[in-house]
Amino acid sequence: MVSKIGVLTSGGDAPGMNAAIRAVTRSALDLGWEVVGVAHGYAGLMSGEFMPFTARSVGGIIQQGGTILGSARSEEFKTVDGRKKAIRNMAQHGIDGLVVIGGNGSQTGAYSLHQMGFPVNGVASTIDNDLVGSDITLGVDTALNIALEAIDRLKTTASSHNRAFLVEVMGRGCGYLALMAALAGGAEAAVIPEIETTPEQVADIIRKSYARGKSHCIIVVAEGAKHELDVLMDYFKDKKGELGFELRGTELGHIQRGGEPGAFDRILGTRLGAGAVEAMANGTYGVLCGLKGNELAYTPLADCVGKTKGVSESVYKLASVMAK
Ligand code: ATP
Repeated sequence: MVSKIGVLTSGGDAPGMNAAIRAVTRSALDLGWEVVGVAHGYAGLMSGEFMPFTARSVGGIIQQGGTILGSARSEEFKTVDGRKKAIRNMAQHGIDGLVVIGGNGSQTGAYSLHQMGFPVNGVASTIDNDLVGSDITLGVDTALNIALEAIDRLKTTASSHNRAFLVEVMGRGCGYLALMAALAGGAEAAVIPEIETTPEQVADIIRKSYARGKSHCIIVVAEGAKHELDVLMDYFKDKKGELGFELRGTELGHIQRGGEPGAFDRILGTRLGAGAVEAMANGTYGVLCGLKGNELAYTPLADCVGKTKGVSESVYKLASVMAK
């Protein structure tokens, strides 16, 4: 049974991570455990950046975006020596359990620790929503709303000037964010990694939107699509006069990550953080705490890593029908 746990955030930051840190801390303290905040993800685990946490340490953070612990990417942690160093550090500080709040790569790291016999559970947190084991991951809802706000604004200026906009959103190899932003933003199309759209098909969508008398055309492009924003803009360089609309490209980039978490992510972070601790209290280790339906779901990390959740084909079709 664990009695002193570490909590860290790793990989890309996601709105709602602070709610999860707070929930891990206060749930563990409620069980009579000690809690240590680990700064800078796995890098801090290896260099011993440990801070004893009280309930007050995590006060006033539920509404803040980003992560108070800081996040990092570490190549060294991918090596066995790096992970041994981390385990040695934790042993020296009496830390006998760990909660990892992060996405696919971070949960792969958590699984590696689990395989080395260290008690660890994960919290499904990434704006990409590519993690198997959770219908929706922490940060997605807020990131989606930020993307939508930008799309709404672009639509206004696009309509005023009769323009088409290619808007690139994040998501790594997963098209969820792009597809949902297209559906909720009333875009004319989504270009996503899971379903190939050629540049000529994009051109056709733009031309047909113009011919139907639309005042604008918004195409949401996932950063991981084969024909992402730069590829498409390059393709259209000499073809601008053939589209009807004047063409512009906008990359939303890190703006999507920076926002204050909305109600959904504050609640999700709280539930998932508490859930990861509860699993440990029940002697369950090596699982990812996620949400399926509206219930907490615990999936062995072994079944989550190395996989990417796909997007729904029916939602993709729905977005196309709505774009008419
Ligand atoms: P996001 O998808 O939201 O950006 P992520 O958690 O997927 O977040 P990554 O950069 O993929 O972000 O991974 C974060 C860190 O997890 C890496 O820098 C590394 O320290 C650790 N990690 C990734 N893959 C492995 C692995 N195979 N073994 C051990 N650790 C890993």
